[in-house]
Order: sequence, then structure tokens, then C-alpha cells
Amino acid sequence: STGDIKILLLENVNQTAIEIFNEQGYQVEVLKGSLPEDELIEKIKDIHAIGIRSKTKLTEKVLRHAKNLVVIGCFCIGTNQVDLDYAAKIGTAVFNSPFSNSRSVAELIMAEIVSLARQLGDRSIELHTGTWNKVSAKCWEVRGKTLGIIGYGHIGSQLSVLAEAFGMHVLYYDIVTIMALGTAKQVSTLDELLNKSDFVTCHVPETAETKNLLSAPQFAAMKDGSYVLNASRGTVIDIPALIQAIKANKIAGAALDVYPNEPGKNGAGSFNDDLNSWTSELVSLPNIILTPHIGGSTEEAQSAIGIEVAAALSKYINEGNSVGSVNFPEVSLRSLDLDQENTVRVLYIHHNVPGVLKTVNNILSNHNIEKQFSDSNGDIAYLMADISSVNQSDIKEIYDQLNETEYKISIRLLY
Ligand code: NAD
Repeated sequence: STGDIKILLLENVNQTAIEIFNEQGYQVEVLKGSLPEDELIEKIKDIHAIGIRSKTKLTEKVLRHAKNLVVIGCFCIGTNQVDLDYAAKIGTAVFNSPFSNSRSVAELIMAEIVSLARQLGDRSIELHTGTWNKVSAKCWEVRGKTLGIIGYGHIGSQLSVLAEAFGMHVLYYDIVTIMALGTAKQVSTLDELLNKSDFVTCHVPETAETKNLLSAPQFAAMKDGSYVLNASRGTVIDIPALIQAIKANKIAGAALDVYPNEPGKNGAGSFNDDLNSWTSELVSLPNIILTPHIGGSTEEAQSAIGIEVAAALSKYINEGNSVGSVNFPEVSLRSLDLDQENTVRVLYIHHNVPGVLKTVNNILSNHNIEKQFSDSNGDIAYLMADISSVNQSDIKEIYDQLNETEYKISIRLLY
């Protein structure tokens, strides 16, 4: 029952998540920080779920001690801190929260578009250091200008709506055809977007194709005096080429939130030429807004992350629904009707080899299989089946039989 579920939350996971788990009736333990490896190993032995952020390292060494761990929740965007393949191998699903901060990023970009057009960063730095410099030359309204959005996903499409509300024209380029919001217009080539836009902003994932997506030829294709923004991933823009384009007065300004190499922690002096060789040259140029990867860093995004990940974990624990998992086959069936007597949901995670389903369905075949869904992801496969006309003694028998099957990784029966 849900009252038996033990969940450990580390690293100050948001209150919104704690409330959701309490509502579910789970046994929730909350710790402010992360744990050293030996304490983590001790704790992980008997918990069913763990919630972490970026500092807790769930390596194979740690996960080897997890005997009952059903699910891991990363209350953040990244999942590098978890050995995803090993987690899948032991039947543990991992969830994160990739999209809860889309609005925060879109708002930051909107602010930066206006800031670049008005050289706000430079005026502010000047006045902070005592220089009054009232200018209007090369300062513009954004109304009537064209914004080119590369990547029209969660962030790009949000931005599209905000920019139109400012009176901008919006063009976008994406590798898939996406329905335009408002009066935005999809263009079929990146070059067309670059030729026509006053502001170009990147909202694509980090992939082999998006590495140096904007480099010397792309800057050359842009309008004279246009602006570049990047709050996607540091690999997307070739920064030395951007520096050249700014020096040649081709590009009138840039806003960067992400970098090929980023410091591991906050602190003075950490952003320097040792990190990225071009740093001191970049910071000496005019109208460059630099922010430390804060696009998604808002209080609202933090609580949205809490809600999104806690909801996904609860759904997986209570119903087996793995949609959105980063390391697992994505399987779901309609909500399980636990009031329906004699109905059991079978969750069977197994190695993806031929013949397994035949064995499993043989075991289930004395009962009525109401619904069934299975999917695989690499070596791991996941079967979900709702079976009816099952009585209490059958449940133990089904469990024991499934438990003896050769390729099983883990089994849960919900009833
Ligand atoms: P998303 O997956 O919703 O959208 C990405 C879009 O890019 C998709 O529509 C996809 O089809 C398109 N795309 C992929 N490859 C492309 C290519 N080669 N050319 C053109 N389009 C391409 O992602 P999202 O949530 O909108 O996030 C976009 C980026 O922002 C990601 O890199 C993400 O990591 C980053 N991000 C940064 C911050 C921050 O703090 N700065 C916060 C959140 C997300």
C-alpha cells in the first residue's frame, strides 16, 4: 500500500513536491543537503524512491546497494549525476523535469532583446562606474523588428507569443514542421531566417547537428547590425566566430547565457580564459550581455519542477506509468481502478530477449487480460497488464511464477 512506500528527498527539494508525497501517504524523509557516499549507500538500501538535484551522485557503486528502489526523481533538468543505464538494468526508472522552466527562459530572452536594442548593459556598467553617457544613436525600439527563432519547441514557441505582444514580427526555423502561434511564420531554411531577422535567438537541443550552428558563414548571412542571443546550449554558437563578426561591426550585440565550458560553482574569478580561451576578448567588446546560465532559474520554475517530478514519481509508484522517463521504455495504461474487485495490475520489467512475453502471458492466461501494453528501450523491456478475475491466493501464485521467469528484472503487482 502507499503507506509502505519510503521516499528520501535530498538537496532541499521544493516544498511543492513534499506536499504531493505527503498527500499520497508515503513515508517521506527530507534532508537539506546531499549525503556523502557511505551514508547514501546505507540509506539507499531500503527506500523505494529517492529525490535528488544535481549534487547527489547515483553511481553504479551506490545503486548496487539499492534493493527496493523503484524510481529516482531528478528535481532539475540534467540527469548526468545518475548512472542511467545501470539504473535501467536494475529496473529503476528515472524522471527529470525538462520543460518546467520554459516560460522563465522565454521571459529572459524578451528582456535581453530590449536590452540589446537599447544597449542597456553598457549604460548600466558605465553608470555603475560613474560615467553619464546619454545616447540615442543606434538605439532602437523592438516594435516592427523581426525576431528569428531557431528551434520552435517549448521555449521558442513561448517566446514567439511574447515577442508578438511587443509588436515584433516572428520567423522561425525548425527541423520539423510546427504549427505557428499567432502570426509567426515558419521558414524552410536557416539562411532565410538569417537574411530576414533583426534578432536571431537559438532554442535548439545540444546535438551533433546543432554544434556551431551559428558560425562564420551564418553570421555573414545575417543583416548588418543585427543581434544574436543564445540561452540553449554552449556548443550551439561558435564564439570566436561571433567575436570576429562583432569586431567587423556585422553584429551589433549579443546575449549569452550558456558556454562551452561553465564553472562548476559560483565564485569570483571563475569565469576566465582558463575556462574558455576567448573570455577576456569577449568581455572587452561593447553590447554583450553575459549571464551565468540563469535562463531557467526562477522561484516559479523551482516550484513547477517540484510539482512535475513529484507527479511523475507518484504516477509511476501508484500506477506504473513510465511516460516521460529518461532511461526506461515508456508504458502507460488508463488509470487503474483499484475499486474494481479482483483486478490486479502486473508490472513486469525484463531483459529484452525473444520469447519472454509468451512465458509471461502463459502465466497470466488463466485470468482475463483486460488491457496490456509493452515497450522496450535497448536491453530493457517493460510490460504492463491489467488482469481481472484474480483472487487473493492467485496473487501470490502469479507473483511467485513471474519471479521464477528467467529474464525478469523486477516485478510489482498493484491491487
Ligand atoms: P524542445 O525540445 O522543446 O525544443 C527544441 C526544438 O528544436 C524542437 O522543436 C526541435 O525540433 C528543434 N530542433 C532540433 N534540432 C534542430 C536543428 N538542428 N535545427 C533547428 N531546429 C532544431 O526544447 P526546449 O525546452 O525549447 O529547450 C531548448 C534549449 O534550451 C535546449 O537546449 C535546452 O537544454 C535549453 N534550456 C536552457 C535553459 C537555460 O537555463 N538557459 C533552460 C531550459 C532549457
